[in-house]
Amino acid sequence: MTTAPAARTALTHVISSEQFDRARLDDLFVRAAELDGARNQRCAGQIMATLFYEPSTRTRLSFESAMLRLGGTVLGTEAAHAFSSAIKGETLEDTIRMVSTYADVIVLRHDQLGAASRAAAVAAVPVINAGDGPGEHPTQALLDLFTIQRELGRIDGVHVAFCGDLRYGRTARSLALLLALYPGVCCSFVAPDVVQVGADILSRLDDRGVPHREVSSLADVIDDADVVYQTRVQKERFGDPAEFDLARTAIRIDADVMRALPQRAIVMHPLPRVDEIAPEVDADPRAAYFRQAANGVAIRMAVLDSVLS
Ligand code: ASP
Repeated sequence: MTTAPAARTALTHVISSEQFDRARLDDLFVRAAELDGARNQRCAGQIMATLFYEPSTRTRLSFESAMLRLGGTVLGTEAAHAFSSAIKGETLEDTIRMVSTYADVIVLRHDQLGAASRAAAVAAVPVINAGDGPGEHPTQALLDLFTIQRELGRIDGVHVAFCGDLRYGRTARSLALLLALYPGVCCSFVAPDVVQVGADILSRLDDRGVPHREVSSLADVIDDADVVYQTRVQKERFGDPAEFDLARTAIRIDADVMRALPQRAIVMHPLPRVDEIAPEVDADPRAAYFRQAANGVAIRMAVLDSVLS
């Protein structure tokens, strides 16, 4: 009897970057490259529900575009706190039980840490975490990693300087966990103390022997950076406006920073940006953030294809 290699087994729920290993990532990136720009019927007859309790532009629309390109259909609600029975007091669990009977896969964004795991625990169909508060955003991390591979031609050995809000920024957290699977990678975390990266992420990096530095100035690490991964200060998650003020202007990418950045390096950002990257940077070929966002469709096609096959 033969068994399928692990990389070819279907994904079930996609909740955390910690679910992925190298074989799975390699498989997804091959699928994404094959599916990029394609229109086919691989998910014909299947229905994807998007349930978004927090705002989104790229994640929701790129998931919807991905499903439509695979021949599937989509239904969903944005502003789900207001436009679903949540406003009547329905629990997330009850909503998920119901939506499980209407769709073959649920893409969930929620403001509470752990919401995606709670949903997966009661769902009869796969749940994909499209952001659970300050927790994780694993499909963003997949497209970020895919972007690094496409832009630099490698992931092994890269030095990624994460900047901005590393306390509440779920995309940086999820990407750091994926990077830890690649040999020779090192991470710098560039942020004021008030939004420095969590001890949970640092201990995962330590477990995997990934060198890391925590600094407050990008100038300390820029010479050696391959990727500057800038993030938005997550205003909506601060209880204390004074803490937000300390964080919001700390690190900005502008023409001066680009002069100091090595020519081989790229600037990434999960978007939306507010003022943490000056518009003058956009024309620089090293500004990879719009190409990064475009990669979201191919990666989400690969994820849906894997979950639904
Ligand atoms: N769009 C990303 C997220 O949902 C980044 C951000 O909102 O700043 O986490």
